[in-house]
Amino acid sequence: MRTTTGWQSSDHSTALRRVPIERRDLRDDDLAVRIDYCGVCHSDLHAIHGLMTKNTDDVVPGHEFTGTVTEVGGSVTGFAPGDLVAVGTLVDSCGTCAMCRAGQENFCYEGPVTTYGGGTKGGYSREYVLRDKFAYHLPAGLDPAAAAPLMCAGITMWEPMRAAGIGPGSKVAVAGLGGLGHLGVKLAVALGAEVTVLSRTPDKAADARRLGATGLLLTTDEAGMREATGRFDLILDTIAAPHELSPLLRLLTLEGTLSVVGAPIETPVKLIELAIGRKNLSSSGTGGTRHTAELLAFCAEHGITADVEVLPSAQVADALDRLEKGDVRYRFVLDLADLD
Ligand code: NAP
Ligand code: ZN
Repeated sequence: MRTTTGWQSSDHSTALRRVPIERRDLRDDDLAVRIDYCGVCHSDLHAIHGLMTKNTDDVVPGHEFTGTVTEVGGSVTGFAPGDLVAVGTLVDSCGTCAMCRAGQENFCYEGPVTTYGGGTKGGYSREYVLRDKFAYHLPAGLDPAAAAPLMCAGITMWEPMRAAGIGPGSKVAVAGLGGLGHLGVKLAVALGAEVTVLSRTPDKAADARRLGATGLLLTTDEAGMREATGRFDLILDTIAAPHELSPLLRLLTLEGTLSVVGAPIETPVKLIELAIGRKNLSSSGTGGTRHTAELLAFCAEHGITADVEVLPSAQVADALDRLEKGDVRYRFVLDLADLD
């Protein structure tokens, strides 16, 4: 076993404690990665509060990180010590089921191995050991801190947009302008879509336009919401708390799609809202290797990274508490160098 250091939550507390953690010895196809930067996802908060993982005990969160390869297993040919890499929410899968064969390891029928939860400990730590297949070369030109959130927030926006065939002429709305949402806007704009932000926060309007959206529609503005009836082909719903789907479904065009990726996703739906306009209600969960590689290449080509506030990892409690209050524009990233 190898020993490293990480930030662990116990008893659902956001006051994480610095603890020693163990990583496995390298298998033939493993990499050891020194984690340099790890994004703080709202799912980390849900996990700390016991909403996501089956394991409600101790949790070391973190599933979007960039780092430096320090050691490789005997059969690894694609990576060498010193390489900059990016890692997301998956670190292994069965590799043989239909989903894995299609590059959709995120839906592996055997259940993918997630970066944390169910026995693994995540990226709020200094070292990670994972199978080479689930590490990606960080494209040159992307800032390692600002690129880390591409690996969860970014890919979670990318897969449903690719599935919906978003491109020039598409009308996309992003509900909730947070970590996922702001990357959703940048990616949809770069794909050529016309993008609108749906938000409860009026003072994000200037940011919405800076990110490339045509504007921000306040979800509390009843007249504005009525006027937007039937406007969008795709709505990416990233709202991080329970909410009504009907007001969003009414904004979809004929056969438009509402993709609800925010959690908790257990929510009542009125089928009549789908019947009128033959609408689609969908969801998505991070991304597989095929789309993740595609996303990184796209972001390198278009210069897309997250808008980040980088904090020393010792300030992780602050980051989590401010994220809970919605006080982040738009992603906290932990600098793990202070764990040495
Ligand atoms: P975030 O940065 O906190 O953004 C969430 C946004 O939702 C907020 O900025 C806010 O935007 C809006 N919101 C509206 N009502 C809210 C409320 N009562 N509490 C909190 N936010 C509210 O979170 P995130 O990291 O982008 O994650 C968004 C959601 O996606 C989370 O539930 C997360 O667990 C989930 N997620 C899912 C996947 C997946 O694979 N399906 C992957 C990653 C994350 P406005 O101020 O603009 O209204
Ligand atoms: Zn996440």
